Amino acid sequence: MQNPIAIGRKVNTLKFATLFIFIVVNHHKKDNFNMNLKSKEFRKYAHQFVDWMADYMDNVEDYPVKSQVLPKEIYNQIGDNIPYKGEDIETIFNDFKKIIIPGITHWQSPNFFAYFPANTSPPSILAEMLTATLGVQGMKWDTSPASTELEEKMMEWFKKAIGIPYNWTGVIQDSASSATLASILTAREQKSTYKINQVGFDGFTKFRVYCSEETHSSIEKGAKIAGIGKENVVKIPTDEILRLRPDLLHQTIKQDINNGYQPLCIIAAIGTTGTTAIDPLNEIAEIAEKFKIWLHVDAAYAGSVLLIPEYQHLIKGIEKADSFVFNPHKWLFTNFDCSIYFVKDKNALVNTFEILPEYLKTSTDGVVNNHCDWGVPLGRRFRSLKLWFVMRYYGLEGLQNKLRHHIELAKWFENKIMKSSEFKLIVPRNINLVCFHFKPQELSDIKKLNRLNEELLHKLNATGIIYLTHTKVNEIYTLRMAIGQTNVEQNHIEKAWELIKEKATEIV
Ligand SMILES: *Cc1c(COP(=O)(O)O)cnc(C)c1O
Repeated sequence: MQNPIAIGRKVNTLKFATLFIFIVVNHHKKDNFNMNLKSKEFRKYAHQFVDWMADYMDNVEDYPVKSQVLPKEIYNQIGDNIPYKGEDIETIFNDFKKIIIPGITHWQSPNFFAYFPANTSPPSILAEMLTATLGVQGMKWDTSPASTELEEKMMEWFKKAIGIPYNWTGVIQDSASSATLASILTAREQKSTYKINQVGFDGFTKFRVYCSEETHSSIEKGAKIAGIGKENVVKIPTDEILRLRPDLLHQTIKQDINNGYQPLCIIAAIGTTGTTAIDPLNEIAEIAEKFKIWLHVDAAYAGSVLLIPEYQHLIKGIEKADSFVFNPHKWLFTNFDCSIYFVKDKNALVNTFEILPEYLKTSTDGVVNNHCDWGVPLGRRFRSLKLWFVMRYYGLEGLQNKLRHHIELAKWFENKIMKSSEFKLIVPRNINLVCFHFKPQELSDIKKLNRLNEELLHKLNATGIIYLTHTKVNEIYTLRMAIGQTNVEQNHIEKAWELIKEKATEIV
């Protein structure tokens, strides 16, 4: 006969065991439940965000184009410490709308005519969502073969589409500044037979880099970083439409050689930042070839136009150059950052940057391309995905149509300026940037005119209706109207023109 107490104990043990199992199972379930809750929550907010994103795209014109906040206005609204306890997405998202949005300048507004555009497009944004989700670090082939191989294929697509020689190789850099730095460094290493990388600058201190007075500040920056020195960046004067003068380039190089300098690199601009001036590449390339100087072509903004066959003559002579960069993240509807960099001698580039510590060795080294050896950063975002989406979504024809349309709009605006008695074109339009100023007929004093135009610009931007920026051309304060935002249409240009005339009348 069983002892009832023992039975009771057994029952109790059973109860405890059951309870224990119950707790463990439930604990596990709860863990799962939490995980599900997380993805459920993510899904909920992701949908909310997508709705917000689509609304933003629809209503972007309701915001002031240029943010109207004062310095520190955003900064002072943000807490002084990392919150100790985590917060929910809803609270953070509300603060995003309340605090951050007023401090945003709306680059995606079709009334944005400042600087150069930094366009996005729906296919690019969708691809960026996937890129963010995958969170791939594409430094080596092994760390995500698709990242490297899609990038290689995209470079082949662009090479053919924009007329880069077939034997060049492409890679995506984070910015044109990095690409130009890569060129200067590669030129330096090639010229010093890779000794500066090895032993430093000993005995190689008299390098010279040449560009026009109009070229981008990234060249000076690159020369500084590469140890060439800002003083050894020789700025060649330009002609009446701001193109580098090859005769003066030739003369300066000869003088420099006579004075014991080593010409290292020439940078030709296809579309300068101030006025989209186009340096005569073919003539410059002949000089580079004659003196065996690395020639880098900076087409950061205007490079997109090479997708249109009738503009490909702009890079006539490219086969004599050594490297080329252009930014799809400017005009080509692809989110920042994405710079396409082509180089004639891939080995020179890789020899300059390659580094192989033990922890980065893989079994495919030497068989595949490891893009971490093609530029400054080790880590690389999966940037080719958005390019693939954009290229496929619009197709070459769609892209050409959009670019042509922007050029037509710029032509329309240029015509208005030329026909007006109160406004003057400063330089002829090359692509889709119109450089002009307000010039009442009775006024010719340049200082007064400059002050007037500066005032006009501030007045225009303070309306929040449009946003323009300026440059100086031969001391003339010049308004720049860059017409290339993804969604810009005729009505935006007409509205802008009316507003410019109206504000100009107000200030005289
Ligand atoms: C915008 C621009 C650059 C710099 O581009 P990042 O990608 O921002 O470094 C360089 N050169 C020219 C001609 C540009 O217009």
